[in-house]
Amino acid sequence: MEIALHGIGVSPGIAIGPAKTFGLDSLEIPQYKVTGPEAELERFTQAVDDVRQDLVRLREKTAKEAGEYNASIFDAHIMVLDDVTLHEEISQRVREEGFNVEYILNDLISQQAAIMETIEDPSFRDRMGDILDVGRRILGRLLNTELESLEHLDEPAIIVAHELSPSDTAKIDLKNARGIITDMSGPTSHTAILARAFAIPAVVGLKNAGAHIHPGDTIILDGSAGRVFIRPNEETLARYQDRQEQEEQQLEALQALQTSCATTCTLDGHEVPLMANIELPVEVTDQLKRKADGVGLYRTEYLFLNRTSLPTEEEQYQAYASVVEAMNPLPVTLRTLDLGGDKFASHIPLAEELNPQLGWRAVRFCLERPDIFKAQLRAILRASIHGNVQVMFPLISGLDELLRVKEVFNDVCADLQRRSVAFRKDIKIGCMIEVPSAVAVADHLARNCDFFSIGTNDLIQYSLAVDRVNEKIAHMYEPGHPAVLRMLQQTVAAAREAGIPCSICGEMAGAPLFTEVLVGLGMTSLSMSMVAIPQVRAELMSIRLDEAKETAAKTTQMGLVEDVRGYLQQRHEDRHALQTSIQQYSRADDAAKVRTK
Ligand code: PEP
Ligand code: MG
Repeated sequence: MEIALHGIGVSPGIAIGPAKTFGLDSLEIPQYKVTGPEAELERFTQAVDDVRQDLVRLREKTAKEAGEYNASIFDAHIMVLDDVTLHEEISQRVREEGFNVEYILNDLISQQAAIMETIEDPSFRDRMGDILDVGRRILGRLLNTELESLEHLDEPAIIVAHELSPSDTAKIDLKNARGIITDMSGPTSHTAILARAFAIPAVVGLKNAGAHIHPGDTIILDGSAGRVFIRPNEETLARYQDRQEQEEQQLEALQALQTSCATTCTLDGHEVPLMANIELPVEVTDQLKRKADGVGLYRTEYLFLNRTSLPTEEEQYQAYASVVEAMNPLPVTLRTLDLGGDKFASHIPLAEELNPQLGWRAVRFCLERPDIFKAQLRAILRASIHGNVQVMFPLISGLDELLRVKEVFNDVCADLQRRSVAFRKDIKIGCMIEVPSAVAVADHLARNCDFFSIGTNDLIQYSLAVDRVNEKIAHMYEPGHPAVLRMLQQTVAAAREAGIPCSICGEMAGAPLFTEVLVGLGMTSLSMSMVAIPQVRAELMSIRLDEAKETAAKTTQMGLVEDVRGYLQQRHEDRHALQTSIQQYSRADDAAKVRTK
C-alpha cells in the first residue's frame, strides 16, 4: 500500500526510482565466547590500523577531487580511531564479558546511536555521527565484509538512509544518485548543503521513513514540497511522472533562456543581476559561472564545520582564493564567520544557550574572539588580489557594532600593509541587514558602509518572532508579511538616500512569487541558491519596472498576508497567461508566414 510522508524539502526537483537503503542493518553480527581476550584485542587493533589506511586514502582522494577543505572532514574520523576511551572501553568489556570483539563493538555503536537520537546539540551530534561512522568501518573490517558504499551504485536509485555521515555524502555516486531521503537532518545539514550543491533532489527530517522502506521499493520524492511516496499507487506514479516530465521540459526551456540572455533585465530593460549563494568552494562550477552574475553570499563558516580544529589562515586563504579566482572578473561577496544560532563547530566550545538564535553568534562571537576574526579577515584580504572581492558582516544590530567591526577590519589592513602583504585597498564593505534594530537605524548604517545585503532568513525570524528552524511554527514563517515588506522598503530607502546598493540574499530572493515586489521595492540585485536562478530569471524577464513599483506600493499598504500573497499570485498568473498568448500568437503568425510562402 502507498505511504505518503512529509519532511523538509532541501533540494528541489522530482525523483522517481528504486530505493537503495543504506545503513548498518544489513550486517549480521555474530556473538560467541572467546578463550583468549588478547588475540581478540589484537584483531581489533589490526582492524583499526586497516581502517586508518583506508581513511588516509579517502582523504587524499577527496583532497584531489573536492579540495583540502572537504578532505579535512576525515581528520575528525582519523582522530576517533585513536580515541583512548574507545580502546579502553572495548578492552575492558572484552576482558570482563568474554565475548567476541565485533559483538562488543556493535553493542557500543547501538548504545551511541540510541543516545544520538535524543541529542539536540548539533555539535555534539556531529561528534557522535563521526564515532558511529568510524565504528561501522571497523566492524566491516572485523567481519571481512565489504562495507556498503554509495560510491558506485549499480543503477539509478534513491538513497534512503537514517542519516548520512559526511564521509558517505562526500563519496556519493553522482551519476546514479537520483535523490536522497533521510530520517534525520535539517536544511543546514551537510547532506542538505551538498544535495543542493550537486542538484540532487532531497527530502530530510522524515523521522522514520527508513522503517517502512525495503530495498528496491519504488520511491517518489518531491524535493520542493518535501513530499515522499513509498510504493506509490498507479495514479500517484502517473501524476508524478507527468510532473517530472513537465519540470524537465520547463528546465530545458529555462536553460535555453539562460544562453539567449546576455544580461538579466526586466521587459523594459532594467538590469537586476542574479547572484548565487554558496557554502563551499566545490559549488563553483562552470554551470554556476554560466548561470550567475557573481557570488552574492559565500557562507564562509562551512569551512569551520565537520572538523576537529580551526582552519588555519593559509587554509582559509586557499579556499577563498580558489572561489575568487574561479569567478573572476565576476564579484564574490564573502560573508565573515556566522557561527552560532543553528551552526556550531565542535572544536569551538560555545556554552549551551537557552536561546542560541538570540545568543552568542556571528559578529558578537567574532568581536570577542579577535584571534579567529582577524585570521579570517587576513585570509580574505590576501585572497582579494585574485579577483573582485567584497566583504560583509552578519547580524549587525546597530551602528556601534558596525564601527567596532570596521575598526578590526582597518587594524588588519594596517597590519598587512606594515608587513607589505599584498591586498586590494578598494574592497567594498557591506552590512547585512537581518536584525529589526538594524532596519530602524539603517540610515546611520548606510552612511558607514558601501552596500547593504538583506538576510531575510534571519530578518523574518527576528521580526515575526518565529524560530526559522522550528518545524512546529514553520507555517508562521512568512516572507509576505506586510511588516517584512515594510522593513525591506525602509532599508532600501535608507540605502538610496546614502547612495549605496541594496541587495537581498535570504531564501526569499529565490522565490519567483516575490521577484516583482522585490524589484519594485528597489533591490539592486538578488542572491539565491543556484538551483533557483533559472526560474527567477524567467520571472524577472516577464515583469516591467513601472508595474513592479506599483506592486510594491500596493502590497506595502496591505494589512493581511493573504491579500499580499493573493495579489502577487494573481499578477504572476496574469503575466504567465499573457506570455502564453503572445507565444501562441507569434507561433500562429510564424505558421501563417510559412503558409503564405
Ligand atoms: C539570512 O539570514 O537571510 C542569510 C542569508 O544568512 P543565513 O541564512 O546564513 O543566516
Ligand atoms: Mg542570516
